[in-house]
Amino acid sequence: MAKFIIFLSLFVSFAAASYVEELKWPKGETFLTFLEKNHLPSSIYYTLDKEEQELAAEIVAGVKYQVLKSENNALEQVLIPIGEELQMHIKTIDDKFIMEITPILLQEEKRSLAIEIQNSPYVDILNATSSYGLANEFAQTFRGEVNLRNLQKGDKLVLLYQQKRRLGKLFGSIKIDVSMVETAKKKNYIFFYKENYYDPKGQELDSFLLSNPVNYTRVSSVFTQKRWHPILQKYRAHLGIDYAASVGTPVKSAGSGRVLFVGQKGGYGNTIEVSHDSSYKTLYAHLNGFAKGIRSGQKVKQGQVIAYVGNTGLSSGPHLHFGLYRSNVAINPASVVKIAKSALGGNELKAFINYTDALRKKVESAQESNEPVYKEENFNLSYPFEQKQS
Ligand SMILES: [Zn+2]
Repeated sequence: MAKFIIFLSLFVSFAAASYVEELKWPKGETFLTFLEKNHLPSSIYYTLDKEEQELAAEIVAGVKYQVLKSENNALEQVLIPIGEELQMHIKTIDDKFIMEITPILLQEEKRSLAIEIQNSPYVDILNATSSYGLANEFAQTFRGEVNLRNLQKGDKLVLLYQQKRRLGKLFGSIKIDVSMVETAKKKNYIFFYKENYYDPKGQELDSFLLSNPVNYTRVSSVFTQKRWHPILQKYRAHLGIDYAASVGTPVKSAGSGRVLFVGQKGGYGNTIEVSHDSSYKTLYAHLNGFAKGIRSGQKVKQGQVIAYVGNTGLSSGPHLHFGLYRSNVAINPASVVKIAKSALGGNELKAFINYTDALRKKVESAQESNEPVYKEENFNLSYPFEQKQS
């Protein structure tokens, strides 16, 4: 009951007999088809400005959204998450439907998990916590460090991590501040530090490196999850990097992978999406046209020309909008688009060592304290992580 009240209070106002429904955004649904289906005026979409229409193209299939309905089933308000920090809020003002972008109310929590290996880290983390998000994040970050297949029953695993909740349920990405796997009497650590994962020596892990997708004249817009525009009095987000370049400039795949999508994508106009492994996806938008023969399902190499810069969709001038997603969550491409992985040195390395020393102590106390493991109530609540076995 308490949860239900939190739920309702998120909507600005509601009649006494209104009720909330939670639904999953269907694959292939656009904001516009959603409005049509629900008999909402399309003017909600057409009166949005350019950036808001771009954001409307960022609704992820599978995202849980909430609908407030009246006693007689008429739709009154809708909340749809966009990225990790903002949501679209459809509501009425003076009997007219409008859409406003508002911040998501998030509860942040820090947790620890200390377990012994019984099957595999992935299965054991899942059994202990029922969190696919946590199991996937561990599997992605720790691969390559220790051969996880060689672990023995009874080996130890400790994770200290941060996660967020929206409406009581896990939401968005999970960050593992430290992972420790103890096997053959050796403790192996990985640390999260300043947006990247590092080994104990301060070497960035063999993460995902992308090359620049275009020869650009300048970066016209950087990545932001949430920002308040003081003049417009609106919240904004820009879930990618805009590279200004003239129409027709070749657009190259930032990494090797497989084409996921070629076509129109709302405010993004002509768009290509490429998946790079089980967890990463890049997006190229406002394209003038696609390279000859490019189609969905096709393999592409890093640096291969896939399209040409344009001005399609809602675009104020020729540029490439480049987006990067990890487990369907938009992340800042600037941290990943680089030539080589970095190693920390000098004072930065000293700061890192101090930071990791403190974390090692926390790992030890988590192991000693034997705290009960927090288990998520329901297996299917860990949007946006899809169910996956490693
Ligand atoms: Zn953009």
